[in-house]
Amino acid sequence: MMQRVVLASSNRGKLAEFNALLADSGFEVVAQSSLGIADAEETGLSFVENALLKARHAARASGLPALADDSGLCVAHLRGAPGLYSARYAGGHGDSAANNAKLLHTLDGVPVAQRDAFFICALALLQDADDPAPLVAEGRWHGRVLDAPRGEKGFGYDPLFLPHGQALSAAELEPALKNRLSHRGQALALLHERLRELRRA
Ligand code: IMP
Repeated sequence: MMQRVVLASSNRGKLAEFNALLADSGFEVVAQSSLGIADAEETGLSFVENALLKARHAARASGLPALADDSGLCVAHLRGAPGLYSARYAGGHGDSAANNAKLLHTLDGVPVAQRDAFFICALALLQDADDPAPLVAEGRWHGRVLDAPRGEKGFGYDPLFLPHGQALSAAELEPALKNRLSHRGQALALLHERLRELRRA
């Protein structure tokens, strides 16, 4: 029988991605919104802390195991900004056009060599709200911030991100390739590996 796991996110794309990944680990992923669970307050000071807060909130509210992710873009020259505030860098939540315009403006005149950045994704899986040994996985995707947007695919900061070793921006890459290389893809692969190890233990 499949074990239900609550996903502390209402993003449909993520739900499908996590379901595909966790099916062979015996989990069926359901969105917290479908159980009437509201978003947690993201008061952590790091991505991994916020992923844990969100997963714990969903586990407590549902009585089920819970999975959460937290992600964003960290720019070295800006000491990690937009960081935890990636989704609302320019004010409104999830306004990618405004966020990208602000990032371009903030880095205006900063030379290529100082435009290093990485996307980061932290995942946390809790058996229940009091689980003292959560499974945590983190992925980082390194690259640099372009000085003009390129590409139409993807979302968020993708048009401004040139991954190391690639000639194409994250918004020009085929989605399947982006998903394999990305911070989220790396974190998902690690979580999958941890679950396999646990099953063998
Ligand atoms: P969340 O973890 O879904 O809340 O994402 C936080 C924010 O980080 C998003 O709104 C985007 O601005 C940014 N972000 C996270 N992952 C990506 C990505 O793969 N491409 C572009 N932007 C991303």
